[in-house]
Amino acid sequence: MTKSIVFWKRCIMVGIVLLITIPTAGVILLAMENSRLRHEIETKPPMGDDAVTIGTNSYDAASIVRKHPLLSYQLLYPELSANFVGFNDDLVDPKTVFLTFDDGPSTSTPLILDALKEHDVKATFFVNGKTGLFAASWLKRIAKEGHGIGLHSYTHQYSLIYASVENFIEDLNKNYLYVKNIADVNPTLLRFPGGSINTYNLRLYQSLCAEVLRRGFIYCDWNVSAGDTLKGETVDSIVENVLNGVKLCWGPAFVLMHDNGNVDIVQALPKIIEKLRAEGYSFAALNNTVRPPMFVYPEPEG
Ligand SMILES: [Zn+2]
Repeated sequence: MTKSIVFWKRCIMVGIVLLITIPTAGVILLAMENSRLRHEIETKPPMGDDAVTIGTNSYDAASIVRKHPLLSYQLLYPELSANFVGFNDDLVDPKTVFLTFDDGPSTSTPLILDALKEHDVKATFFVNGKTGLFAASWLKRIAKEGHGIGLHSYTHQYSLIYASVENFIEDLNKNYLYVKNIADVNPTLLRFPGGSINTYNLRLYQSLCAEVLRRGFIYCDWNVSAGDTLKGETVDSIVENVLNGVKLCWGPAFVLMHDNGNVDIVQALPKIIEKLRAEGYSFAALNNTVRPPMFVYPEPEG
């Protein structure tokens, strides 16, 4: 009997001790964990607007940049850049037509400039690196008469410029210096040869587009094509293509034409300008406050 009382007394004592020590130990452990977490939060950089959430994890954008240094082509020609401050959609009337001429300067340049001057129209020339006898004087005249000048690659050789992003940037830098040194303007616009997405740059176009935008350049595709490089084109087909294309645009029209020695475009120009003016359209040169058409990335296959 006595033994049994002693046994139960001990059991109660042990129970009381456990009831006190277990919660106490738990509180001490929680306090330690709390202190450790506090220290971790205090020593982490603040996660403000730069916080990036990927899946369920949050990262500080600056630390991502530190962990992923610049790509080799991003280090090339740091001076190859433009100052982009934003688009101003309020300044562009929806019935504006932006005439653009690729591939010059050429023997057509002075004729195109004469036609534009006669009709008091400003346009934009996306130029290559031409070294012919009169190329520099034509390029200077484009700038002097108030037209826009954009880059269109120095060589226009698809196999070369679209072989790698490095090649493209190297060629673009030559094109940039060519325009800057001869026309005395800092180009801010470019048009990719073949457009921003074409069969030659399918492997690279995302990196190419991202890299030129990262450097502050705005690339401009088109929403109307004059078809002046198509086989069998005529003055009439050029006029018809442009007029029909412009009328289909919901907003401003960006017309692709070429300054490549073909005189049909020169003869078509007055007709295009006069007919569109009669229908209430106006013309302007491009600059980097105008939001241009950019081809939409294709849906991934599969
Ligand atoms: Zn071209």
